Amino acid sequence: MAPRSVSIFGATGSVGQSTLDLIGRDPERYDVFALTAGRDVEKLAAAAIQHRARLAVVADENCYADLKAALAGTGIEAAAGAAALVDATDLGADWTMASIVGCAGLAPTLAAIRQGRTVALANKEALVSAGSVMMSAVSNSGATLLPVDSEHNAIFQCLASGGIEAVSRITLTASGGPFRTFSREEMARVKPAQALKHPNWSMGRKISIDSATMMNKGLELIEAWHLFPVGLERLSILVHPQSVIHSMVEYRDRSTIAQLGCPDMRVPIASALAWPERMETPCQPLDLVSIGRLDFEAPDEVRFPALRLAREAILAGGSAPAVLNAANEVAVEAFLDGRIGFLDIGRIVEDVLARIDMAPVASIDDVWAIDMSARQLAERLTAELIN
Ligand code: NDP
Repeated sequence: MAPRSVSIFGATGSVGQSTLDLIGRDPERYDVFALTAGRDVEKLAAAAIQHRARLAVVADENCYADLKAALAGTGIEAAAGAAALVDATDLGADWTMASIVGCAGLAPTLAAIRQGRTVALANKEALVSAGSVMMSAVSNSGATLLPVDSEHNAIFQCLASGGIEAVSRITLTASGGPFRTFSREEMARVKPAQALKHPNWSMGRKISIDSATMMNKGLELIEAWHLFPVGLERLSILVHPQSVIHSMVEYRDRSTIAQLGCPDMRVPIASALAWPERMETPCQPLDLVSIGRLDFEAPDEVRFPALRLAREAILAGGSAPAVLNAANEVAVEAFLDGRIGFLDIGRIVEDVLARIDMAPVASIDDVWAIDMSARQLAERLTAELIN
């Protein structure tokens, strides 16, 4: 069997490294075309050399000389900059992992979709910001979009048993994050280091903070709304602290199909990498006896307003989800830098949504314009909070 060509956008991150871990266990099976990073040249060059990539791209142009030096004599091409990231999709890999964090991943993700092959989507912010543009690019190009987010991958797997027309409800599970039992007063005092400690999953910094505010679940609700068009009223969220059930689909005959597994991102990544087949993984088997019990709670939209804001953004439509995402990216960064408090993240997102003029989204240029103005307003509100 000919090796499958793969490219990984965001290869130095948590999802990217988990993907490379799986690929590295069966190197003859894969031909690595492009690997990309934001700034981490050392990790990118090491991965490119280990996996014998053809091309390594770093988004920050200032890192080009270092990347070129790190790859000297290896035969691996080095490139840098936003345009080079998009151009890397021209290599036309059979399978592309979109795992850049944030809206920074939108252009390469969209370019990979336009190639019309298979795109494994972890970069949820791209879909949240440009959902309608991305989904029409999928249907125009004939690309296969495979969800990698554990919940959406679970739903995708559950849908194989019945089909979307027969669905009565889709339930996204949520761990509730590290502050699931905290009061608002307790949350007001938390520091970045506490918020970065997720109880079940090991993830990048931004998604860890999103999990702590539960904006991650809000973004996932928007993501599910695009990927599984059953209508908002059929999408629900259930807090399940053990993160064993990754999501569920209920059919109109009231059969509920769930996907379970240990909280290890290599499980959903492997499902997308081998799809429509199955592959071996080094992940732990599920041991329900030692887990002992599975708990469930209703989500609390008062302590975690991000859930309400995401639902309202879906209902508002147009630019609202892109505004929500951009404001959240700015606020999360400000929190991680120690410039604002934990609860200020939600306040800034809500303020930006309330103050900005909403607009229709017809093209990717509309998304860039909305993203930029929402970021500017969020930066201004952040600065006002500090002063
Ligand atoms: P990380 O922060 O660990 O990695 C992010 C990746 O994006 C890195 O390769 C980083 O490069 C790169 N990057 C950062 N900024 C830019 C930029 N401006 N331009 C180009 N590349 C950039 O994130 P995760 O792997 O945790 O998450 C990636 C995506 O997957 C997110 O959208 C997240 O929501 C989603 N996801 C993650 C899960 C997880 O378990 N981690 C689970 C489900 C979804 P560098 O290392 O050089 O900074």
